[in-house]
Amino acid sequence: MNSDEIQRLIQLLSRLPGLGPRSGRRAALHLLQKKESHMAPLIESITKAYQTIQTCQSCFNLDSQSICYLCRDPKRDQHTLCIVESVSDLWAMERSNTYRGQYFVLGGNLSAMQGIGPDQLNLRALMEKLQTKAFQEVIFALSATLDGQTTMHYVRERISSLVANISSLAHGVPVGGELDYLDDGTLATALSHRYKVA
Ligand SMILES: [Zn+2]
Repeated sequence: MNSDEIQRLIQLLSRLPGLGPRSGRRAALHLLQKKESHMAPLIESITKAYQTIQTCQSCFNLDSQSICYLCRDPKRDQHTLCIVESVSDLWAMERSNTYRGQYFVLGGNLSAMQGIGPDQLNLRALMEKLQTKAFQEVIFALSATLDGQTTMHYVRERISSLVANISSLAHGVPVGGELDYLDDGTLATALSHRYKVA
């Protein structure tokens, strides 16, 4: 049986998203066998992140400053606001390298199943942001799930008097996707959101 210290390390690593007990054991062993080259820098990085990373007061992204690097960037479009569910969705949008406006992280979706109501989301902060800053367009980039779409309709109702243009990411055929492999819902949405080509 492993020592308590090793057991504890495995236990903590196993709890990380995407890892389970097996991956947790492998990661723990790897760190213990490479203490200087892998474990020490990891400890330093985690400690630093723990001490400095905070939630942006303006958009709810994560950063080492209270107003994040995206909100501070004067070169970004100040009049467009993209509403995302989570920080990981914000990161995904940034990776796409096509959006240059502002963000707002809602902090989840409304979900009757999980008991998440409007009060659990950052709605009040969103309303304040829209009231104090003039945005020309709000883009919803929420999941194409029932919860995601319910959330979009709810938030849209609340903000419709504050902003002139409200749009949503299109849902449809993925780039490189073959029609034969699509599920019926995706194909139906793509058809109803068709665009003119001539
Ligand atoms: Zn921010």
